[in-house]
Amino acid sequence: MTIPATFIGHGSPMNALEKNRFTQRWSEFAQSMERPRAILAISAHWYINATAVTSQAHPRIIHDFYGFPQELSHFDYPVEGSTELATQVAELVQPTWVGLDEETWGIDHGTWSVLAHAFPRADVPVVQLAIDASKPLSYHLELGSKLAPLMDDGVWILASGNIVHNLGALDWNDPDGGFDWAMRFDDDARRFMLDEPSALGEIAQSDDFHLAVPTPDHFLPLAYIAGIAASSGKPTETILDGCVLGSLSMTSYAVGSI
Ligand code: ZN
Repeated sequence: MTIPATFIGHGSPMNALEKNRFTQRWSEFAQSMERPRAILAISAHWYINATAVTSQAHPRIIHDFYGFPQELSHFDYPVEGSTELATQVAELVQPTWVGLDEETWGIDHGTWSVLAHAFPRADVPVVQLAIDASKPLSYHLELGSKLAPLMDDGVWILASGNIVHNLGALDWNDPDGGFDWAMRFDDDARRFMLDEPSALGEIAQSDDFHLAVPTPDHFLPLAYIAGIAASSGKPTETILDGCVLGSLSMTSYAVGSI
């Protein structure tokens, strides 16, 4: 069986608690695929100067945000980890070195806000892979390409970020729309994802890049899915589309679902 590899635009942490067209789609998409044996999550919110995977048997839930309702700070997602998958990832990507993290991280909201809808019973083990902030986009594409065999081994690779993510430019008067530059950049990314994922790095030359990607953390998870699309040769489809609050894209992709 093949489990699609997916990039999800996660948006606000409040999506963990809300029900909207995005969370509805996350739920439907998860139900449409075969049940994975484990999930490898690549979240924008574990952005450190190292390449590492969580390897705890019972990863802690991290509430890495401020200024949201208490209900969100108490949100729990009591899921198991998988030292087996963590070790498998470390072996798969050799000679790249991957640290096995047993204490510093766990499951952050980039992951659990999506999984709260995709697997609300928290009954599929989860491992997170850190995004190494010291490395260029090409490194993340390459690392992604090495993860592709996991798709055929029962693992759901879930990359979670936002293609356009400029919190300084949010427009609270436009809850369901995007600035022209945001939609233009989102369309540019779509062309790469659907037609030439291996060339995703060229998007840095876009005039809109610095507005859309003021910091790399939310964009880089996409590079993993582009790398997987390029190396697996499997087709990519858009599973969600559009911007919210002017400067956040919720557009999402799946590789190997069609
Ligand atoms: Zn985020």
